[in-house]
Amino acid sequence: MSETPVEKPKKRKRVNVRRPEVMTLVQEEVEKHYHSPVVQKLRDAGGSLTIGQTTIRLAEQFGFCYGVERAIDLAYASRRVFPDQRIFLIGEIIHNPEVNRQLADMNIVSLPWKEISEDYDDLTADDVVIVPAFGAPTSFTEKIEQQGCHIIDTTCGDVMKVWRRVRTYAKGGVTSLIHGKRGHEETRATASRALGDDKKGHYLVVLTLEETDYVCNFIRNGGNKEEFLAKFDRACSPGFDPEIHLKEIGVANQTTMLKSETMEIQNRVKKAITDRDGNDENFQMFDTICGATQERQDALFDMLNKPMDVLLVVGGYNSSNTTHLVEIGNEHLPTYFIREASCLESLETVIHFDIEQHEEISAPNVLAGFDDSPATIGITAGASCPANLIEETIVRVLGLRGISREDIESV
Ligand code: SF4
Repeated sequence: MSETPVEKPKKRKRVNVRRPEVMTLVQEEVEKHYHSPVVQKLRDAGGSLTIGQTTIRLAEQFGFCYGVERAIDLAYASRRVFPDQRIFLIGEIIHNPEVNRQLADMNIVSLPWKEISEDYDDLTADDVVIVPAFGAPTSFTEKIEQQGCHIIDTTCGDVMKVWRRVRTYAKGGVTSLIHGKRGHEETRATASRALGDDKKGHYLVVLTLEETDYVCNFIRNGGNKEEFLAKFDRACSPGFDPEIHLKEIGVANQTTMLKSETMEIQNRVKKAITDRDGNDENFQMFDTICGATQERQDALFDMLNKPMDVLLVVGGYNSSNTTHLVEIGNEHLPTYFIREASCLESLETVIHFDIEQHEEISAPNVLAGFDDSPATIGITAGASCPANLIEETIVRVLGLRGISREDIESV
């Protein structure tokens, strides 16, 4: 009897693109694209600048984090190391349209990230594929390995820390309860690792406190299994059975969630398990909010201790950590979530992203009410926002108040 030969995956080709001669050029290029002298000026001045009746305040921590800087450096370096080869990227390198546009200009082509399409079948061993900062599901990385591509993995170390944790849960037969957005690249990548090396592990993704309470109620009292599975459609592992797989739970989270909410979710699940079992032996948790996200949230809370009239949060609308900065701002003062400076259309109108309605809307600009009086404008940005976009925002908002770029530079 003849046996069908099993196709062995081709060996993954790791390439070191961080060569000193390459990185010197890359850093010059990145600096040219994203550096901002105005932001630097504000930083040097302690984060605050007053011209006439207008004060701009910058959060102490904002914009590019170490993981994003590294991912961008590696993507730029890839083009230098492989000047003539096809370079692809799984989805977006980070959630910022300006950065993704720069990569597209270097002919780095984005591949679909929701499904493995036939584009992946066309990849050859000569092609280079970049894995973005938030990682990719194992099915994607296995596919590009199988195609034999050169792989430039820019996955942030903080994301990999979460993967190690959920793999450990899987090894011990513990279900990973992941606080995150079920469709977010990072959460999908983490969920795939929660299946464990044998792919038999389980996970459940929850986003809101309402979803958490539903799960807690099932833990305490059981419930309708079909309804549960319909509610968490595409948010749980294949074969997930709430009557079996909620017995032992380990919590992990997308690195960019709101810390207070993640802690609340952990507390509620722990309490539900304790109520059911009489102890918390079947509960584990691990805080996986990354340092950069935490610092940006803390810096905003700090900034909110002093009065401000309006807050501008700059960043890509699909950026999770930026959205949470907006949530924090919304609780304290008028806050606009803008993609770029041109969203500040006039002193009367702002185009911004409404995180409740999930769409870009046109809103009255509260600065109109400060026409002839002092105004303090706070500005912050998520971990994926380059400094040049923040500079353009500062220049634009001051421009609406009659202050020119020359005025700013001469201060
Ligand atoms: S936001 Fe955090 S996890 Fe994401 S790239 Fe930056 S440091 Fe890494």
